[in-house]
Amino acid sequence: MVEVIVKEMPERPRPGEKVQLPNGEFIRIRHVGIPWILPPKKVCNDPECPWHGHLSVRGQVFTVTVESVHGRSAVVIHEWLHYNPKYKRYERRRKKMHVRVPPCIDVRPGDIVYIGETRPLAKTVRHVVIGSIEDTTEVKPQVVRLEQQQ
Ligand SMILES: [Zn+2]
Repeated sequence: MVEVIVKEMPERPRPGEKVQLPNGEFIRIRHVGIPWILPPKKVCNDPECPWHGHLSVRGQVFTVTVESVHGRSAVVIHEWLHYNPKYKRYERRRKKMHVRVPPCIDVRPGDIVYIGETRPLAKTVRHVVIGSIEDTTEVKPQVVRLEQQQ
């Protein structure tokens, strides 16, 4: 069992940067693959962290509400609308999910966080918290209008 070290940075590190932890270990901040989610302000040495370890995020990304936190894992509620073609209306559906919480991201009940799909980490855990709703940047769409092209 590796001792978990979390270092708080004065500024938010960028993906690709290398950070030295107090024990001399160098951690490289990875690209998770979702352009508008920024890396957390803290840096950890957890191998199963999507930002600082080698846990790959692939598949689906959801915005969910945290219900309860139990150490390294949390219970989140995912709500979505499902279209019912017979009645031509949407019905609300909700599902509770177990997710992994990396030590560099603080979550509390009631927070709105982004979770990404990963490989199965436990019997019921196959998603990981990537960041909170505040850890985002505005994506500027690159739209070239027809008048500008001429
Ligand atoms: Zn981390």
